[in-house]
Amino acid sequence: EQDGDEAREIAKHLPFYPFKGIPRFYDIGGFLAKPEVFQQIVDIFVARYSGGDLAIDSIAGLDARGFVLGPPIALALKVPFIMMRKAGKMPNTISSNAYDTEYGKRSGLTVQRDRIKEGDRVLIIDDLVATGGTLSSAITLVHALGGTVVECACVVELKMFVDPPEGSGLPSRKRLFES
Ligand code: IMP
Repeated sequence: EQDGDEAREIAKHLPFYPFKGIPRFYDIGGFLAKPEVFQQIVDIFVARYSGGDLAIDSIAGLDARGFVLGPPIALALKVPFIMMRKAGKMPNTISSNAYDTEYGKRSGLTVQRDRIKEGDRVLIIDDLVATGGTLSSAITLVHALGGTVVECACVVELKMFVDPPEGSGLPSRKRLFES
């Protein structure tokens, strides 16, 4: 559950440090090193996507930390795991356009064409959402192949980006998700 007691407990295992000019860079290595916390996170997502309205056909994980979180969830749910990577890493791909992130512009993501079929219900997973630029780019790839995005799942949400102040120069996450 978002923002509940469980989330607060998990957040205790998520240290942040100044890194590459970023004052608060959250390090998921903190909970990966605690098997009981990592298992708890996996279990929360497995329970959420195990059926009903949120049933999924596959999980698309974003390079690189979505590659750590997605596979244990995909294996538990017995659904395929799909890699979304930077250009030039996989054969037979389609690409999204360059996009804005917390740290500026990034070149697009790619996915292999035959991994998502028309009508597939896809869960997108990454460690952290800041502006939402990275997830929005992943959403366009799922849509381009005829899939539906059931939800985007992350362990950390940087709330300061929910509504960036007018004139801050930060991309609006609301705008990114609506487009
Ligand atoms: P966004 O596109 O602005 O939402 O930024 C999210 C992307 O940047 C994700 O792929 C994250 O892995 C990465 N990112 C941004 N801030 C952090 C952080 O504090 N720790 C780890 N990854 C981060």
